[in-house]
Amino acid sequence: MKAAVVHDFTQPLVIEERPVPEPGPHQVRVRIEASGLCHTDIHAAHGDWPVRPTPPFVPGHEGVGIVEAAGAEVRHVTVGERVAIPWLADACGRCDHCVSGWETLCTRQHNSGYSVDGAYAEQALAHGDYVVPVPDGLDPLDAAPLSCAGVTTYKALKVSGAGPGTRVLVSGIGGLGHLALQYARLAGAETVAVDVTDDKLALARELGADHVLDARVQDVAAEVQKLGGAHAAIALAVSNASFQAAYASLRRGGTLVLVALPAEGRLELPVFDTVLNGTRVIGSIVGTRQDLAEVFRLHALGRTRVIRETRRLADVNTCFDEVLSGRTPARLVFDLR
Ligand code: NAD
Ligand code: ZN
Ligand code: ZN
Repeated sequence: MKAAVVHDFTQPLVIEERPVPEPGPHQVRVRIEASGLCHTDIHAAHGDWPVRPTPPFVPGHEGVGIVEAAGAEVRHVTVGERVAIPWLADACGRCDHCVSGWETLCTRQHNSGYSVDGAYAEQALAHGDYVVPVPDGLDPLDAAPLSCAGVTTYKALKVSGAGPGTRVLVSGIGGLGHLALQYARLAGAETVAVDVTDDKLALARELGADHVLDARVQDVAAEVQKLGGAHAAIALAVSNASFQAAYASLRRGGTLVLVALPAEGRLELPVFDTVLNGTRVIGSIVGTRQDLAEVFRLHALGRTRVIRETRRLADVNTCFDEVLSGRTPARLVFDLR
């Protein structure tokens, strides 16, 4: 089977022929149909973060495909079923985080395409208890981006407290942001979309953003304060300056949700303002299996649109360049069928 492999953080990925992996007792082997390109895969391949993956490794945590083999202990999925392989490859299942619905905070978790090989491959192994069934009728090319970009922003909106009548700033209308904008609208919020490319600003308008701001030429915080300030700001742009602008856009009592993970990500917090304004700043990491099931259900109901273009896995390196240049539509998805 073919896989795209990172051997060195400073070198392009290499397409390699690898042996078809055999699932262990708790694992399934998935024949990948669609594999989304999340900006996290670029951070992984470049070794951008304090905890680095160990090369050689196969990136990819928006994998969707058909279970073609299952170990003897697999109980929740069967051969022939379509499943998603998300970032949370597995967790311990027993710690206080795991048993209280916060499996994404488990300190003993593994991560697809990071600490274990991921979905940039024709076939991939995954834990039978942590793959998420994809409902019938969902296009695998849509299900792939929903498996990270979707679930991450759906969860970020949940923890932000956004609801009907609130004002939500979505900073960065890329893979994550174009879905965040839709979840904010579904929550009943007034939406403010921010980006730095003409195409993404046009996409935000097309998706129904109430206000669209161009951070290249507009003072985002000043413009949002003119509207009354944001109850919640969802930080999805790979830019420290955008975090600062999102923080300064909040109204009193507002919540900044940090999601993007730039290399050397930093946010300077003025303590006096944060205290007097009763500001909340929280981090949000992907979402649970339950969150992803909800994301799939919303999509099956026709409530969300995935904006994407397909590519060949062989073109993975030029795809990374495309995403870094901001030229892409919201998401690139490798079509492996
Ligand atoms: P992306 O490249 O598709 O989107 C980023 C968007 O931000 C682009 O549209 C870009 O034009 C825009 N942008 C760049 N600079 C900006 C600025 N100054 N102001 C406003 N917009 C700006 O990336 P993505 O796949 O959506 O991922 C975004 C980030 O989220 C990455 O750092 C990724 O690693 C991270 N991520 C985090 C989680 C999590 O669970 N916390 C999950 C997935 C991805
Ligand atoms: Zn991701
Ligand atoms: Zn745990």
